[in-house]
Amino acid sequence: MTSSSPASMETQEQTQPRTYLNFIAGAWRPSASGVTFDNTNPAHRSEIIARFQKSTPADVDAAIDAAEQALPAWRAMPAPQRGAIILKAALLLEARQAELARDMTREMGKPLRETMGDLQTAIDFGKFVAGEGSRAEGETVPSGIPDKMCLTIRQPLGVVGIITPWNFPMAIPAWKTFPALLAGNTVVLKPASDTPLSATHLVEILDEAGLPKGVLNLVTGPGGTLGDSLVTDPRVAMISLTGSTEVGRHVAELCGRDLRRVSLELGGKNAIIVMDDANLDEVVKAVSWAGFGTTGQRCTATSRVIVHQKVAEAFIAKLTEAAQKLRVGDGLLAETDMGPLVNQGRVGAVHEYTEIGQQEGARLVTGGCPLDEGALSEGAYYAPTIFTDVKATMRIAQEEVFGPFVSVIPVADYAEAIEVANSTIYGLSCAIFTEDARLVFRAMRDINAGLVYINAGTTGAEPHLPFGGTKQSGNGHRELGRKAVEEFSETKTIFVSYPAV
Ligand code: NAD
Repeated sequence: MTSSSPASMETQEQTQPRTYLNFIAGAWRPSASGVTFDNTNPAHRSEIIARFQKSTPADVDAAIDAAEQALPAWRAMPAPQRGAIILKAALLLEARQAELARDMTREMGKPLRETMGDLQTAIDFGKFVAGEGSRAEGETVPSGIPDKMCLTIRQPLGVVGIITPWNFPMAIPAWKTFPALLAGNTVVLKPASDTPLSATHLVEILDEAGLPKGVLNLVTGPGGTLGDSLVTDPRVAMISLTGSTEVGRHVAELCGRDLRRVSLELGGKNAIIVMDDANLDEVVKAVSWAGFGTTGQRCTATSRVIVHQKVAEAFIAKLTEAAQKLRVGDGLLAETDMGPLVNQGRVGAVHEYTEIGQQEGARLVTGGCPLDEGALSEGAYYAPTIFTDVKATMRIAQEEVFGPFVSVIPVADYAEAIEVANSTIYGLSCAIFTEDARLVFRAMRDINAGLVYINAGTTGAEPHLPFGGTKQSGNGHRELGRKAVEEFSETKTIFVSYPAV
């Protein structure tokens, strides 16, 4: 069965929840499995928002087939025309921003002002990258040989598989899909199972913006089942994945066997360094937002605060007060500062780190427990949690918790702060608060991370600047900015001889 609507005809006639379909070769289709999974609201676990296709490798195969067939015509379309479709999609996202933000809050929990921001990133980047269709610059240089010139052009790679996480349900699918399409590739998109609705909205909008059939295909379902068939298919030229370092390593190993291009944006254990001259009120504001915003579930979330011992006590007192004031609740409510974790399973996973911190001898200052009283009883809530007296080698200082969980590590001086900041396997984002200009410049040099913030928290990408990490936070690629199109294309060098005949 195919359909012109993302929701199946039978279920539209029934009461909620709707059943959404895969998008393959320009048509909305059920999975070959005939099985669906529930997309539930983490603020109200009994609320099923919608049902989605639990797809199989056969669906992935059909999606790759459609993408392969659509490739010749799409890559032949002039890049400025491809850019015009992306711009139209960005404008449609903008027109529907408020309604899409509500759906995003319902499916993954973060408060409305954050889901509006997630969409804003997709919109801004769509507008930015659409213009790259008219630039797509190469080099034109003299040859070392008479009667010859040399130039480079960018070429699409072919069919690109895009695998995305749930924490930025629109921004990340958009910031991969837009440049992949702009570069002339066709795409199979597999979003995270916690947030298929936002990805479906993106596909609907790109379809409405005029994308030809088969250029973008959507297959929903579990990564463990679908991932390998997408990642190992010889027709797929590139995989772009944002997710955990563990899954990234697995995908990189599979891609490595065929030397397939793979772009990975992975985990983080991001730190804010606080020197003894820092404005502590500013630091507390930054940690409250970067540590507890999105319930600590950002790849760039502040999960360590490396604080000069002279100001550690004063800082912890202020941070504790701020954390205890955060209003935890349903992200749809205007007063909510921090929403639930993405699902009930994550509550147990975060709580395990509280137990680990206590066993390791760190001191729990506040939080450290699920919140399930009254209005919170239906949701996946966890209290904003702060540990202090944390040692740099403890697991709570080394491993990504991905929850509202901040480890405070007192240090003696700048040198120790940098050593601790750089002591994890990750290198995504790091910040320093100081009024000392010499330390600012030394930190810009000494911090081993892809993103460095001076007197600001560890979060906050700007769509026109490169984004990505060092060490095991990725594999060296950068997303966003002008590099985004380079990531999804390759360079062809051309030599033109014109000797007299
Ligand atoms: P995850 O690794 O569990 O899943 C990411 C995606 O990979 C999902 O779509 C999932 O279905 C898929 N997947 C799972 N197993 C797979 C397999 N075997 N083969 C192929 N695909 C598979 O991550 P998550 O829980 O969705 O997201 C949280 C993680 O993402 C955190 O570690 C976070 O730091 C990271 N993240 C990184 C960035 C960044 O830009 N560096 C941004 C956001 C999130």
